[in-house]
Amino acid sequence: MIRIWLLFLILSLPHELLAQQCGTNTIHKMLQQKGLWPQNKASHNTTSWPTDSIYTIPVVIHVIYATNAQNVQDLQIESQVEVLNEDYAGLNLDAILIPQPFKQFKSGDVGIRFCLASVDPQNNPTTGITRTFTQVNSFALNDEMKYATTGGHDAWPTDKYLNIWVCNLDGNVLGYAQYPGGPPETDGVVIYYKAFGKNGTAAKPYNKGRTATHEVGHWLNLQHIWGDDGNACNGSDEVADTPNQANSSSGCPVFPSISCNNGPHGDMYVNYMDYTNDSCMFMFTQGQKERMQTAIENYRPLMKNTSTNCAPLYQTIDYSTTIIPNPSTGRFMIKFKNAIPPTCLLQMFDLTGKTIYSYQVSGLESRYLNIDLGNVSNGLYFLKTEIAGKTYVNKLMVFR
Ligand SMILES: [Zn+2]
Repeated sequence: MIRIWLLFLILSLPHELLAQQCGTNTIHKMLQQKGLWPQNKASHNTTSWPTDSIYTIPVVIHVIYATNAQNVQDLQIESQVEVLNEDYAGLNLDAILIPQPFKQFKSGDVGIRFCLASVDPQNNPTTGITRTFTQVNSFALNDEMKYATTGGHDAWPTDKYLNIWVCNLDGNVLGYAQYPGGPPETDGVVIYYKAFGKNGTAAKPYNKGRTATHEVGHWLNLQHIWGDDGNACNGSDEVADTPNQANSSSGCPVFPSISCNNGPHGDMYVNYMDYTNDSCMFMFTQGQKERMQTAIENYRPLMKNTSTNCAPLYQTIDYSTTIIPNPSTGRFMIKFKNAIPPTCLLQMFDLTGKTIYSYQVSGLESRYLNIDLGNVSNGLYFLKTEIAGKTYVNKLMVFR
C-alpha cells in the first residue's frame, strides 16, 4: 500500500526532481582505484593569492542528447553561464537571504568569470557549444559522455577550457566534477540536463543553475562543506571559515540548523557546497575563494589571461536600468538592475532623435547614478545606456 502511494507521488510530480546527489567523490574513488590518479586529492597550498585577481575561464558546453528534450537550447545554456557569473562574482540577488551571522563570511567577488569560448581548439570561431546525438539513453558515473567512442564528445584541451558535458545521468545524480590533478582527458564537469540552467528542461528544486555552481566549485578544488565524514564530525573541507557540519543538508533548512556542537549559528547550509535546494544556497566564503584562486594558480595556470578566447567579460550580466522617479523634473536617478557596470555610455534623445545629453561613465561605486539634465523642455525623451556591448533603452518623461 505504501509502495503504491509512493509510486503515485512520483508520478504526480513529473517535473520535480526527488533527490540530490553529487557524484564527485564517487568518481574520485573510482579513478584512484583504477590507478588513474597521480596523487591524493589536490592539496591546498597555503599561499593566499591577490584576492582582487579576476580570472576569466573559457567554457565549452558539450550537449549530448538521445532525445530532442535532452538537446538543451542555447537560451538554457546562456542562463547557466549567467548564473555562474553572478554566483562567482557574488552578485546573486538572493544573497540578501543569507542569515545575518553568516554574512561576514561571504566571499563577495570570488574573482572568477566564465564565458562561452569564442575560439575552438583549431582556432576557428565557435559558439562554445557542441551538440552530439547519442544512442546512449542515460549515462552512469563512468565518464563515457567524455569520449566520442562511447557515445559522447571528446574534451577540448582541458588546460585551456572548462569542459561541461550536459546529458542524461542515471541514478538521481545531478552532476559531478573532477578535482584538479586528475587525468586531463576527463577533466571537467558533468551536469544532468534537468539540473542545468534556469529554463527549458531545468526542473524544480534544481532549476536555478546551482548544480553547476557547486560542481565548478569541486573542479576548483572545493570539498563538501560537511567534510564527507558521514556524520562523524571529524572530517573537514579544509576551509577554516566554514563551520564543522555533520552531514549534507537537504531541502531548505530553517536557521539555525545545529550539528557537531556548532551552535548557536549551526550549519552553513546556505553554502553552495552543501546539498540544499537551488533556491536556498547563496554563498561561498572567503576561505573557499582563496582555495579556488589557489587551484587556478597551481593547477590551471593556462586558464588565466585567456579572455581573448571569450565573448566580452560581463556580457551575460543583465545591466538593464530603471529611472526613478519617472516622470521627473529633469533630476532623476538611474538604477542598474544587477550590478555596478565597469563603464557605460549614457545618451538622451528627444522625439526627433536629436542628442540632448551624452555622458561617459566609469568607475561607478554604486548601482545608482544621479542625473541632472538642467533646463530641458517638458516632454518625452529616450535614455540609451550602452554597457559591455549591450544597449538598454528607457523612456523618460520630463514635466515641471
Ligand atoms: Zn558535490
